[in-house]
Amino acid sequence: MFRIGCHISASGGYLAMGHRIDALGGNTFAFFTRNPRGGAAKEIDPADVAAFLEFCRERDIDRLVAHAPYTLNPCAEKESVRQFALTAFADDLKRMEHTPGQYYNFHPGSHVGQGLDVGIAKIAEVLDQVLFPEMTTTVLLETMAGKGSEVGGRFEQLRAIIDRTKLSDKVGVCLDTCHVWDAGYDIVNDLDGVLTAFDKAVGLDRLKAVHLNNSLNDTDSHKDRHAKLTEGRLPLEAIRRIVTHPVLEKLPFILETPNDEAGYAAEIALVRKLHGHT
Ligand code: FE
Ligand code: FE
Ligand code: ZN
Repeated sequence: MFRIGCHISASGGYLAMGHRIDALGGNTFAFFTRNPRGGAAKEIDPADVAAFLEFCRERDIDRLVAHAPYTLNPCAEKESVRQFALTAFADDLKRMEHTPGQYYNFHPGSHVGQGLDVGIAKIAEVLDQVLFPEMTTTVLLETMAGKGSEVGGRFEQLRAIIDRTKLSDKVGVCLDTCHVWDAGYDIVNDLDGVLTAFDKAVGLDRLKAVHLNNSLNDTDSHKDRHAKLTEGRLPLEAIRRIVTHPVLEKLPFILETPNDEAGYAAEIALVRKLHGHT
């Protein structure tokens, strides 16, 4: 089953999200588990979740790729920021169990001057505190652009985090096409080479989802500015190679492009056409 969708608003709850992605023509989606700038999450209504799961079965919607708030920085130096990361992460993972077997994506974080090694160790420490043996969710480390002191700009850094995490079978990776391009991985001219590098460093079996974005900047720019699929530095032909690649086409593709709902519906249709399944 080819899965394409986008990041949608979580307002109105779970069933509302199901209707929203269905109306856009998608069959997978991402949403913020709480306000992206932090704060408390809304109480989960079990009846709403039950109606949502039923709707997803009917409409064949699968793969929730939930996104942690941007303010969640597991390797922050400031104790209050790290404490928020721990609390929000743990609470989100508890909430994710209402929709079993899905994905929870997060940014590894920025070490802000503490150095890569300290950053990596702190991220694994947070994972060791929030992951639990009975959980059915897989948490996904997102590949980052390597902006500033971001951890996760190189595949080897993701591997180092996974290697240090006790319950590492609960950890996967989400590949963001804008981020890896900005980080210096040339997915336009050498997609196979990049995937081989990923396989060597992390293992392709860890790759669970793709954030499908174009980039406003050149490769190796370390900028992280997303563009619409038809408007960035990645030619549409490169996007087509990504969504039809035998390794990638089995994964859920999530658009995080600068679009309103009509724009997302058009891009979802475009990706289906590129993939060859309308
Ligand atoms: Fe992200
Ligand atoms: Fe992303
Ligand atoms: Zn980004």
